[in-house]
Amino acid sequence: MTTTADPTTTQPATGPEQVRRLVTEVPGPRSRELHARRQTAVAGGVGSVLPVYVERAGGGVVRDVDGNSFIDLASGIAVTSVGNSEPRVVSRMAAQAEAFTHTCFMVAPYEGYVEVCETLADLTPGDHAKKAALFNSGAEAVENAVKVARVHTGRDAVVVFDHAYHGRTNLTMAMTAKNLPYKQGFGPFAGEVYRAPMSYPFREAAPITGEQAAARAIATIESQVGAGNVACVVVEPIQGEGGFVVPAPGFLPALAAWCRAHDVLLVADEIQTGMCRTGAWFACEHEDVVPDLVTVAKGVAGGMPLAAVVGRAEVMDAVHAGGLGGTYGGNPVACAAALGAVAAMRELGLAERARAIEAAMLPRLRALADRTGVIGDVRGRGAMLAAEIVRPGTTEPDAALTARLNAACHQAGLLTLTCGTFGNVFRFLPPLVMPDHLLAEALDVLDEVVDATLRA
Ligand SMILES: *Cc1c(COP(=O)(O)O)cnc(C)c1O
Repeated sequence: MTTTADPTTTQPATGPEQVRRLVTEVPGPRSRELHARRQTAVAGGVGSVLPVYVERAGGGVVRDVDGNSFIDLASGIAVTSVGNSEPRVVSRMAAQAEAFTHTCFMVAPYEGYVEVCETLADLTPGDHAKKAALFNSGAEAVENAVKVARVHTGRDAVVVFDHAYHGRTNLTMAMTAKNLPYKQGFGPFAGEVYRAPMSYPFREAAPITGEQAAARAIATIESQVGAGNVACVVVEPIQGEGGFVVPAPGFLPALAAWCRAHDVLLVADEIQTGMCRTGAWFACEHEDVVPDLVTVAKGVAGGMPLAAVVGRAEVMDAVHAGGLGGTYGGNPVACAAALGAVAAMRELGLAERARAIEAAMLPRLRALADRTGVIGDVRGRGAMLAAEIVRPGTTEPDAALTARLNAACHQAGLLTLTCGTFGNVFRFLPPLVMPDHLLAEALDVLDEVVDATLRA
């Protein structure tokens, strides 16, 4: 079942036709019908960016139940980096599902779990001895990284940053910066979480270097927490939900050096940035930063729920036997999917493909910024790119225009997302197997949508 064809240039053997095509209004009648059913069955607190109900997805396309095909610039939030139903993922999952679906690794173990841990130890930054533990979601991985860090250091405090996003469980809500929609009404939150200022070059009052931004964060930590109380500093090498914020060069290395000097563990939350998304296996590699622990999820398993904490063997081993685990963590079918996804990333050269997507998109986004004046900053790495929408000539966020642009993209057949503390970041997360012709078409449509929206 494994195909050797390059899905970036050819029609995949399986999956929807690689075209953008709207055949009804958006959402169409069948989606509206399903949406009405949903209203009585699904809790209102669960939202959907674009309520078209999906029938099939693959390559660079999501097709809905009305037959509309959207160009996928979301990848299910940076998850389907290898594309939906990637043949290497599907064939391994099918074989595993037929053999057995669950024993619980804590009850009776299996090879797939071990192989995923070996693979992630190999792929994460640094050539020291590493070990890993597997979980179901990103938030669960972050929680477990904190558990490991607290046991290893014998300290309580966890340092996070402005604009950070780490999940929706109680501890990770506390670690997440933004109130609405993630935290409102859900307290009280976990204690011993402290927030330091981030390096956010576009929003600095005056330009400062990465080293200066790190010194500012460190001063906050030392004065408000005390280095000797800090178990770990948890940082996204490029912030995700917070606005695709790329810290100034030098910020992460300076932070890493301070952590090393004070026996504080550096935890890189690479849940969104990892697994080829930014043009490297992990985003820390762009600045030669070697974290003590790395959290991995989203893109790791081709759409299946799998997450990991990977780190220094002696740190991971600090926890007593039985202290880490969970009923489903490292489920065998999810592990098979992860091994298939890694095979696809290697065989299709998807880190390189992410860099090619950056090379194609960045100049177009910059030209759009120059031409329209409503994009204050274009940033990101690889296939994790964003445009920050502002009132022309200022840094004042324009969340209303961002929402209008996003809705107009949906109406034009692009599946796009927004993010950011101020709701004004238009973000692009195409599958790394996005065919060239669809990426080019998406950029043309984006130009037209922005022009038409600004004229309206
Ligand atoms: C998505 C995300 C999480 C949470 O992952 P879930 O699987 O949704 O729990 C944590 N950290 C970062 C950086 C993320 O992007």
